[in-house]
Amino acid sequence: MTREFAGFKAIVTGGASGIGDATVRRLQSLGASVAVLDLNPAGAAEGAVAVRCDVSDGASVTEAVRAAADRLGGIDVVVNNAGIGARGTIEANPDEEWRRVLEINVLGIVRVSRAALPHLRRSSSAAIVNTCSIAATAGLPERALYSASKGAVLSLTLAMAADHVREGIRVNCVNPGTVDTPWVGRLLDAAADPAAERSALKARQPHGRLVSAEEVAAAIAYLASPLSGSTTGTSLAVDGGMQGLRVRPP
Ligand code: NAD
Repeated sequence: MTREFAGFKAIVTGGASGIGDATVRRLQSLGASVAVLDLNPAGAAEGAVAVRCDVSDGASVTEAVRAAADRLGGIDVVVNNAGIGARGTIEANPDEEWRRVLEINVLGIVRVSRAALPHLRRSSSAAIVNTCSIAATAGLPERALYSASKGAVLSLTLAMAADHVREGIRVNCVNPGTVDTPWVGRLLDAAADPAAERSALKARQPHGRLVSAEEVAAAIAYLASPLSGSTTGTSLAVDGGMQGLRVRPP
């Protein structure tokens, strides 16, 4: 990819940190104009349109997507990346925590995509890419709520792909494994021995290291670009082999 996104306008939720920030920079480097929709847009990459947005709040999303479309002059690409984690079994979190996480991780995608669809219909190369997770299908222990939210993202991706394929709007998702982002950094910092925890985490990855945010961003850019023009309703794993390899290397 060189200038695949010349003239493209993209919005990236959760674009001020981690995978979202790497995606913003990648899309910009490929020629796109990008708006970052984030709770804390202050960290948005230079040159991006920074819009404060809480994807769990319908009015905030409507206003933010309108502002982004106005300032960019349309929307061709939506990257639904904002998401939060949750630990524990189904007994660990009360109903209100389930609602809070599902509001962000699932309904956030619904709201942003719904608000963007009228703009995407006017694009000649429209794509939505959702940030899912290997948690959608892995059966991870102590991640009931997070896994359920990402399972919903996977099904939603397929359903949206079916609904909008005839309109020329492609919908795909990426399934990252363990990615070296501020989120994972915060989890490691909370451990008794962060350095030892990081080494143990790396050792659990089939390819022996954490996935980089840039690697996930490159996959998102591919799925958002005309290079994947006949690809819709798929998930692309970016996980060092976690999902695909039945037999782990020794
Ligand atoms: P991160 O915490 O570094 O960044 C998340 C961004 O989302 C932040 O800028 C935050 O302000 C924003 N955000 C949070 N709640 C929001 C809301 N309600 N409205 C708008 N913005 C909001 O996280 P990350 O690791 O880059 O994760 C990004 C996405 O990748 C998430 O959907 C996450 O589930 C997914 N993911 C991450 C990993 C990983 O290992 N880091 C693995 C698989 C999937």
